[in-house]
Amino acid sequence: MQRTKVKDLLTGAEAGKDVLLKGWVRTKRGNKYVNFIAVNDGSTINTIQVVADANNFTEEALKDVTTGAAVSITGELVASQGKGQAFEVQAKTIEVLGKADPEAYPLQKKAHSLEFLREIAHLRFRTNTFGAVFRVRNTLAFAVHRFFNEKGFVYMHTPIITASDAEGAGEMFRVTTLDPINPPKTEDGQVNYSEDFFGKATNLTVSGQLEGELAAMAFSDIYTFGPTFRAENSNTTRHLAEFWMIEPEMAFYDLKMNADLAEEFIKYIIRYALENNREDIEFLGQRLTEEDKARPQNERQEMTLLEKLEFVVNNDFERVTYTEAIDILLNSSHYKKKKFQYEVSWGIDLQSEHERYLVEKHFKKPVIVTDYPKDIKAFYMRLNDDGKTVAAMDILAPGIGEIVGGSQREERLEILVERMKGVGIHEEDLWWYLDTRRFGGCPHAGFGLGFERMVQFVTGMGNIRDVIPFPRTPQNAEF
Ligand code: ATP
Ligand code: MN
Repeated sequence: MQRTKVKDLLTGAEAGKDVLLKGWVRTKRGNKYVNFIAVNDGSTINTIQVVADANNFTEEALKDVTTGAAVSITGELVASQGKGQAFEVQAKTIEVLGKADPEAYPLQKKAHSLEFLREIAHLRFRTNTFGAVFRVRNTLAFAVHRFFNEKGFVYMHTPIITASDAEGAGEMFRVTTLDPINPPKTEDGQVNYSEDFFGKATNLTVSGQLEGELAAMAFSDIYTFGPTFRAENSNTTRHLAEFWMIEPEMAFYDLKMNADLAEEFIKYIIRYALENNREDIEFLGQRLTEEDKARPQNERQEMTLLEKLEFVVNNDFERVTYTEAIDILLNSSHYKKKKFQYEVSWGIDLQSEHERYLVEKHFKKPVIVTDYPKDIKAFYMRLNDDGKTVAAMDILAPGIGEIVGGSQREERLEILVERMKGVGIHEEDLWWYLDTRRFGGCPHAGFGLGFERMVQFVTGMGNIRDVIPFPRTPQNAEF
């Protein structure tokens, strides 16, 4: 007999037939006449109820059917008499494929804290919450590829090991095969990386953008979707040392086209998740609503998770320049009451409290902030005619802050070289990057979306560690 997944059993398509199901026991309850076993196999948040009649199954036969055990069950799929489910399985055979000692199994019926579950990340997939989170993550990843594929973008695999440290000075993980205790040294006592595996110092990439730009100069529209690494020691709920980033890069795009694409993209993948993971998102929303009840009235969310997502999908993002954003902050009663911890003035890098004020208090929707001061942005962003700002854009999302960072790129060789000098990057190190400005360069633009921040936004999970299967953060690389 072919196995049927729980998701398909629950549609009732096979009602009246004998079925084979496999999965993990969530609960078993019953009395001396009958036992009810709830089985989940990860295909859906729902469980299938298996009814084991005492006439067919002795207590002894069911003794290893405990929470967490892997089981293989045959029986007839029938309409359920009980409430809570439309269909159930009247068991004929039950085989325990893998026991789970009830004394030792860490997942109990009671709700566990997210912090505790992080310590048993190898088992947390089996909870409703993490089942839902990672099914949504999967759907979003698929939607990313679907969106760009439909638009004719080429998926580029940019390198994970890189010799350019143009972007992430000080924030990179070194990749080396040199003996850490006794590395070869140069005459002046430095580690001699010319003897290292690649003949030069190499690191894990912080972004695929520079290589992405090279490909865009041939394919017009490309995107990357891969892991990136940052050795920043920021222990926040929005930073990981290893995270996934989506970086489209488009030839012949200006900043406005770039922002339009980013907005369309974000709406598309959220809509796709709403259509394909409704039950999971509803469950996660209920979780948040429960959590919210414990908060004082004035700190509660104005919208449920579903309402928030539908609002984002159905409304235009707000667009303001950095200069306008600073004015909004300076004129806010929040500022006048001295409620910002960090100073506000033209030229500052917006702090997360400023970003959150703009999206959560002022506009109450996602905001695209453009045209930042050049001194706080990367060297490759295109210098505006005012000479002070660059064609940058950040997209800020409620509850998250920055979710996208992007820009129109500087395509003018002399200005680009000038800006590199300004930040101490040697032309020789990026000769290949500069070549694209020498040979058929053109206006182009792109952005980077932090995938985990997107998953946080759609699932409502407060901590980024809970939306990646095995988080890498300072002092933590377990599993
Ligand atoms: P932040 O100011 O929040 O640290 P950033 O300015 O360093 O972000 P970018 O370099 O523009 O971010 O990276 C592009 C996107 O990657 C960000 O908009 C964000 O969504 C995501 N991102 C950046 N750093 C991290 C991180 N450490 N962990 C997870 N996602 C990140
Ligand atoms: Mn950062």
